[in-house]
Amino acid sequence: REALNRASEHIARGIIDTLAYREIKPEDLQPLLDDILLDLVESDVALEAAEAIVAGVREELVGSRIRRGEPVERVVREALRKALLALLDPGPRPDLAGEARARCGGRPLVILFLGVNGTGKTTTIAKVAYMLRKAGVTPVIAAADTFRAGAQEQLAAHAEKIGVPIVRGRYGADPASVAYDAIKHAQSRGFCAVLVDTAGRMHVDSNLVEELRKIVRVSNPDYKILVVDSLTGNDAVEQARLFNEAVGVDGVIVTKVDADPKGGTLVSVAHAIRKPILYLGTGQGYEDLEPFDPQKTVNRLLE
Ligand code: GDP
Repeated sequence: REALNRASEHIARGIIDTLAYREIKPEDLQPLLDDILLDLVESDVALEAAEAIVAGVREELVGSRIRRGEPVERVVREALRKALLALLDPGPRPDLAGEARARCGGRPLVILFLGVNGTGKTTTIAKVAYMLRKAGVTPVIAAADTFRAGAQEQLAAHAEKIGVPIVRGRYGADPASVAYDAIKHAQSRGFCAVLVDTAGRMHVDSNLVEELRKIVRVSNPDYKILVVDSLTGNDAVEQARLFNEAVGVDGVIVTKVDADPKGGTLVSVAHAIRKPILYLGTGQGYEDLEPFDPQKTVNRLLE
């Protein structure tokens, strides 16, 4: 009798289940996914990244069960939000000031800045220096782009304005030795961090990759941070791949997001190299550096 009861309970539950839930079919999803793809591309997400995100959402949802009457659209948007968040928020981001502070008295925290000329790398180094100084861990700047005319002067002008020391190299000097000197200088004077600028020339015959690898070998950076310009879209993605393959990138700072209301480049770059975005450049002033907030970016994308 008990077995009979159990069996009938089981059947009843099955019937209720069939009435209450249904399976999502590919044809339920397709029009919604087509719209999402278009929305993402219109927000300047690279097609390749947009397609991969949409495919991920499709895979997750096809065959899954939803309550009858629950709009598929809501389920899809929720899955999309989750997929974007997973991409933009791959894990904890470093607390640069905290890590620098922990190094005071020992080997300074060494942060290498990579990026193509014009992306805002110089300004970004100044912003990070300003942020660290404000946090009580004044860094030394290493002007290790000894190639581009004006790079040294431009950095020196920033360093003077924000009141942080700079170690410069002569035009054509070995960039790795400038980085090395700056680290020694910082260590001997009790500075807790060194921010190393690097060259960003991009002509075909440049030996930039070798130069960067040497700087990395000599300075053994704790972080290699790539600076990309949000307004350059696919170029930013290409640069991310290039630098990541050349020397490995630990995190990205995306500049000029104040001029880019959509934020698609953030998604494309995160998708291309699967590295965290650390900060956003939001203007030309030293204060215009915001810790990256994945939630805010996703909200803006899904608006
Ligand atoms: P670099 O050649 O990569 O070192 O580029 P610079 O640091 O010289 O920056 C190039 C231009 O972009 C300068 O006019 C900067 O003021 C500007 N810039 C840099 N970051 C930002 C940002 O986050 N927002 C805006 N609007 N402009 C920026």
